[in-house]
Amino acid sequence: MKIQILTKDDKEMSFSVEDITSPFANELRRVMMQEVRTMAVEWVDFRKNDSALPDELVANRIGQIPLTFDKKAYNLPEECECGGKGCVNCQVELVLKKKGPGVVYASDMKTKAKDVQPVFDKIPIVELFENQELQFEAIAQLGTGKKHVKWQAAIVGYRNPQTVTIDTKKVEEEACRKAVEKYTRKSLKDAKDKIVITDPQTANLVMQAVDICPPDSIKSEFNENVFVFNVESVSGLEPEQIVESAGEILEKKMSIFEKSLGKLK
Ligand SMILES: [Zn+2]
Repeated sequence: MKIQILTKDDKEMSFSVEDITSPFANELRRVMMQEVRTMAVEWVDFRKNDSALPDELVANRIGQIPLTFDKKAYNLPEECECGGKGCVNCQVELVLKKKGPGVVYASDMKTKAKDVQPVFDKIPIVELFENQELQFEAIAQLGTGKKHVKWQAAIVGYRNPQTVTIDTKKVEEEACRKAVEKYTRKSLKDAKDKIVITDPQTANLVMQAVDICPPDSIKSEFNENVFVFNVESVSGLEPEQIVESAGEILEKKMSIFEKSLGKLK
């Protein structure tokens, strides 16, 4: 198995994995989306809500706010020593007190836990008018996308990379030539017999010329042995942390499986 990072920033990452099967790729995707733990608000206790929105709607919006957190600092409530009752190891309290007029933003929530902060400060929660107030205490905890979409760590997609080969000798007709030159951004005058394209964007574009070009002049092949993943974080974790966590989860599953096998003997 060979893994290669193709592009990466705080929110999105693309990487290729060689020598895996389609079911494994699918499982990796599913684990990243559904099983990686993230932090989100689960309970909101309203002290005051004079806004136009009812408590449930405001609570729902608060739940959708992605929160940063220290991956090693918290337990899932159901796995915590407190038995899920709630303690510093499985819960974080956030408090908000705001008076109108003005928009209440995610950044108006205050907490003593330095690691837990909204990923984006300017997520609007609700608008308050003159003399209106919003006050609540909220409890954030770890969860997974399997339990509720608000804990989903990332949006993940994958595809097999495509190689497009253009037989330049067969690309003679004007419309076809023009299309190929436009999409490949290459002049066919100095091109060799074949142009091979592996860049996915260019490959997709060139395939649009297939209909106006002679048959067999443009050939496309998908490499079914290689999977290119795209991971877009929708949580407080960076894409790299999500991939790492997914790896740890899969490893743990395999070790449980191995132990169970041992018991059979
Ligand atoms: Zn606890």
